[in-house]
Amino acid sequence: MEKQYDVIIVGGSYAGLSAAMALGRSLRKTLIIDGGEPCNRQTPHSHNFITHDGNTPKAISLQAKEQVSKYDTVSFLQGIAVSATKLNDGFEVKTAAGEAFSAKKILFATGIKDQMPAIDGFAACWGITAIHCPYCHGYEVRHEKTGVITNGDLGYEYTKLINNWTKELTLFTNGKSTLTPEQTEKLAKHNISIVEKEIAAFDHTNGYINQVLFKDGSAMPMKAVYSKLPFVQHCDIPMQLGCALNEQGYLSVDNFYKTTVPGVFAAGDNINMMRSVALAVSAGNLAGAFINKELVDETF
Ligand SMILES: Cc1cc2nc3c(=O)[nH]c(=O)nc-3n(C[C@H](O)[C@H](O)[C@H](O)COP(=O)(O)OP(=O)(O)OC[C@H]3O[C@@H](n4cnc5c(N)ncnc54)[C@H](O)[C@@H]3O)c2cc1C
Repeated sequence: MEKQYDVIIVGGSYAGLSAAMALGRSLRKTLIIDGGEPCNRQTPHSHNFITHDGNTPKAISLQAKEQVSKYDTVSFLQGIAVSATKLNDGFEVKTAAGEAFSAKKILFATGIKDQMPAIDGFAACWGITAIHCPYCHGYEVRHEKTGVITNGDLGYEYTKLINNWTKELTLFTNGKSTLTPEQTEKLAKHNISIVEKEIAAFDHTNGYINQVLFKDGSAMPMKAVYSKLPFVQHCDIPMQLGCALNEQGYLSVDNFYKTTVPGVFAAGDNINMMRSVALAVSAGNLAGAFINKELVDETF
């Protein structure tokens, strides 16, 4: 495998593969290094991305990989990038297997890692009936008995949103509610009950939830539960390089997907809270074009 590239893309899921297509088609020698752990890997069907609605996440990325691999400008390495160092004219990236590659620019399309709550069974249901986004999975559980685990202003807004997909809705604050009296009253008007009991576990069958089990021993039948989880960046190399994070924990980028470190770009879930395959593909596509433009400007 060659050692020198124009661009190294760390992360070869939707954002990374999309950027690789734009770069490969711009005649840029591009290396993708991918660990193969996209955040949606457990979900049985991916929705809301035209031409691929209802496909498995893997089928979408496999087809993308197949198409990107047709460009002889693009190489793919299955592996984990563990470090990157600044060189005079670019960067050197090392992998867990001990290989080293250099490039003029780096793009991090590395996504985020959702942090599972301390609820037994939650992780097994994640992406199946424990849902992160109504636009991706709400239609499949429309009108079903549904819970939202959240609290406070965010909880109120999220519950209000989910009420569009089902009127069989319960807000689980999983401890004392921090909603205002006005918010509580408004939810009550829409027949949305607030349950403050602490959740112990999900009783489920292969990720399909049957009931929410509470620490006091009681239980509530349920078909789906929405939750907004805390997260960490999937890859900490951008921070090692000095890339700044914003207040929410996303990599700070400008309109051209440039991080705060020259030559380092980022695209996909790692830069903003709007998570979808379509948006990751869009961000990767744009980042690829902006990286190519920067290389053109530097050499013309
Ligand atoms: C449970 C769940 C279900 C979802 N369902 C839908 C849906 O139905 N429809 C929809 O449009 N969106 C859905 N999404 C959102 C969508 O999956 C994400 O927006 C999308 O995957 C983001 O793409 P990405 O390329 O930015 O990151 P990811 O897809 O998360 O990929 C990041 C890649 O980077 C790799 N990586 C990270 N660090 C390193 C490293 N150091 N070295 C090498 N590789 C590395 C990872 O292994 C991974 O392959 C869902 C999300 C979740 C969590």
